[in-house]
Amino acid sequence: MTFDLDSAAPVFIGHEIYRHSSYGHMHPLRIPRVSTVMDLSRALGWLGPANFRTAPRAKPEALTHWHSADYLQALQIAERDGAVSDRTRERHQIGTHTNPVFPEIWRRPATTAGGSLLAGELVSQGRYVYHPAGGTHHAFPDRAGGFCYLNDPVLAMLSLRRNGLRRLAYIDIDAHHPDGVEHGFGNDPDCLMISVHEARRWPFTGQITDRGVGNVYNLPLPRGLNDSEMALVRDDLMLPLVQAWQPDAIILQCGADAVEEDPLSRLSLSNNAHWAILAQLMSLAPRLLVLGGGGYNPWSVGRLWTGIWGVLNRQDIPDRLPAEAEGVLRALTFPGNSRGRNPPDHWFTTLRDAPRHGPVREEVRGAVQALQARKMAWA
Ligand SMILES: [Zn+2]
Repeated sequence: MTFDLDSAAPVFIGHEIYRHSSYGHMHPLRIPRVSTVMDLSRALGWLGPANFRTAPRAKPEALTHWHSADYLQALQIAERDGAVSDRTRERHQIGTHTNPVFPEIWRRPATTAGGSLLAGELVSQGRYVYHPAGGTHHAFPDRAGGFCYLNDPVLAMLSLRRNGLRRLAYIDIDAHHPDGVEHGFGNDPDCLMISVHEARRWPFTGQITDRGVGNVYNLPLPRGLNDSEMALVRDDLMLPLVQAWQPDAIILQCGADAVEEDPLSRLSLSNNAHWAILAQLMSLAPRLLVLGGGGYNPWSVGRLWTGIWGVLNRQDIPDRLPAEAEGVLRALTFPGNSRGRNPPDHWFTTLRDAPRHGPVREEVRGAVQALQARKMAWA
């Protein structure tokens, strides 16, 4: 084992609640995700007691900085009753197909939110923090959205502010636009917001023309986005923007649904794209919080997010996984999805995907240039 006992080592925030919690057997979030990352990271010798913190469940009062008391109460009642009234469904968007009532409908999001509040404290002390259960970027103050009940990225950012950090950079590389986070910080002149997401996909927000108060950079990208195109976005837009912004802290929402094998989007990245973005941001950030997000193929999300923890810890990604780690991946199933029927061997034996390079399309180049031109105005 290679536990790093250095007090400045990155911190992993997790919890066992995610291991068996499911949104229901037909829901995209029926698969384990965070527990896979914990198991793989431990099997690789990358995670031990010294750098693991259990997420504390947030008390409702700690969440009223952003969420309405009525909504928080509705979530707790839904967990107690296992059902919601029509009025609650309509008003708070819980008990729907997308945001179902499930056994941990309050405890699970409250644990994720508590992890993000803790992350804000730890990051403000100068730590790099990884909270893969976080990144629930579609929740609004008074309602759920897109599988998200509480908006833990917003809560993390408010926690950073309470802990004395003013200038923030929020970067979201999930396949979906972070409508809830933009609702929270889209008009905040001290928060740079960059989102790259698939064009013309739910929630259909995040237009390239959105500016907020000059702080919002939305880059909708076409289907089939490849690693070469993402590298252009990273090097010509994302990194220069962050560098010029000089944030006190960077928050990276690292949704794993923009990879080729994900069933919910049509982008075609390999996990190398995510890891390279993180590696570059590490050189720009005195303080860094990495959150999870989407990701609906149990193998691709487990491999991608474990690699994120490896990159944060400057570990070499092994070409072939040790037997114990391979066993973690072989034990996963993907019921109800054709991708689970005959998984390719490299989903069991490796973390790193083969790169998915390709031509850089003119529409990608043009969109990057359009946003670059805006940056010139303030940089
Ligand atoms: Zn997503």
